[in-house]
Amino acid sequence: MTIQSDRDLKDYEKIAGQEIVENIRKKSKKLSGKHMVCVSSTHEGGGVAEMLNSLIVLFNKMGIRFGWRILHGTPDFFTVTKKFHNALQGEDIHFSDKKKKLYYETNKRYALFNHIDHDLVVVHDPQPLPLINFYEKKQPWVFRCHVDLSNPDQDLWSYLKKYIEKYDEMIVSTEEYKKNLKISQSIIHPAIDPLTVKNNEISKDVMEEYLGKNGISLKKPIISQISRYDKWKDPEGVIKVFEKVKKEVDCQLVLLGNMVTDDPESVKIYSKTIKKYGDREDIKILVNVSANDLVVNALQRKSSVVIQKSIREGFGLTISEALYKGTPVVASDVGGIPLQVKDGESGFLHFPDDIDGFANSVIKILKDDSLRERLGENGREYVKKNFLITRLMMDWLNVFEKRLL
Ligand code: UDP
Repeated sequence: MTIQSDRDLKDYEKIAGQEIVENIRKKSKKLSGKHMVCVSSTHEGGGVAEMLNSLIVLFNKMGIRFGWRILHGTPDFFTVTKKFHNALQGEDIHFSDKKKKLYYETNKRYALFNHIDHDLVVVHDPQPLPLINFYEKKQPWVFRCHVDLSNPDQDLWSYLKKYIEKYDEMIVSTEEYKKNLKISQSIIHPAIDPLTVKNNEISKDVMEEYLGKNGISLKKPIISQISRYDKWKDPEGVIKVFEKVKKEVDCQLVLLGNMVTDDPESVKIYSKTIKKYGDREDIKILVNVSANDLVVNALQRKSSVVIQKSIREGFGLTISEALYKGTPVVASDVGGIPLQVKDGESGFLHFPDDIDGFANSVIKILKDDSLRERLGENGREYVKKNFLITRLMMDWLNVFEKRLL
């Protein structure tokens, strides 16, 4: 994550338009001086941290005092919460009292470190969810869940629901994730910040420099997937797609991923992938690269096609990031992905296990420059209209207004 605090709201006018920027100014003014805090489980890696790194800076620049706290957890705690994450996405879990205790006690202890007398509290994702238990509730609490909740393990869900219903509101990423709850629920689609190092325009020279530094040749078309090493992102499936594509078009695959503290499984998945495929010709498997944001930017721009072969996907910011750069995306038709990729317009959608479908779509794009350009242009326009940080700021300002004024 590149540290940036040099942007002002005005800088977004050129990209997002004057009207939304003006509306953000007006609404922020009404909320000026309010003191808010959010809690999440990591300050870098993954879509949530990506958005908060921009939102927190921008809200503070608008006069809203918005803090961000990171839950302190041991590796064992994050092993348990990753299991929760998997079970919320439909996998079996052995839901033992020991796991519940570690989850509960970690939050109880962390509450001692973190005094909350703010006007509003936003808790991101299940890791810090039980925090609400350990405070005298004096203000609205909002639970922002970024996970795909459409088919959770029922025992785990009933357990978490007891905490969720202590909040005033739950916010999810799409309609299908809403649940049967006593509290109010709303939808906020995630968004990308067009002015970060990761998304900003970069020159051809910079692009080539950062790809070259990572051993990526520019001689063959690039297909890539940029994601944490996580079984839900199916890196092995991407390689299977690539191997089919390679029989028809000479190209190369880059998998770029990171390992983050709140996802202890990523080391295992990365090791498995590199062991099995690390020496295959034209496949690069990169992890935790230096100058990460510039490399992501260059790779998303230089790829002929970006793949997102997730089995489940809460939203998938990587998709909007690639589309915004004019690169078509071939992706799974699951979770938040179809909100971003319009089949046949900005890329193609397939069932996650349809390796042939994925490969055929990639080949089609690689063989047809005008199709690639058309899909890329449509994708960029769609993201500009729907998935920029300015729209996300507006959505949050509406929540603050509803809860505070
Ligand atoms: N990302 C990154 N470097 C990597 C892999 C991913 O910076 O090696 C970023 C990616 O650009 C995106 C975020 O991590 O901003 C992933 O967000 P997404 O919503 O796609 O998935 P999540 O990891 O939250 O499930």
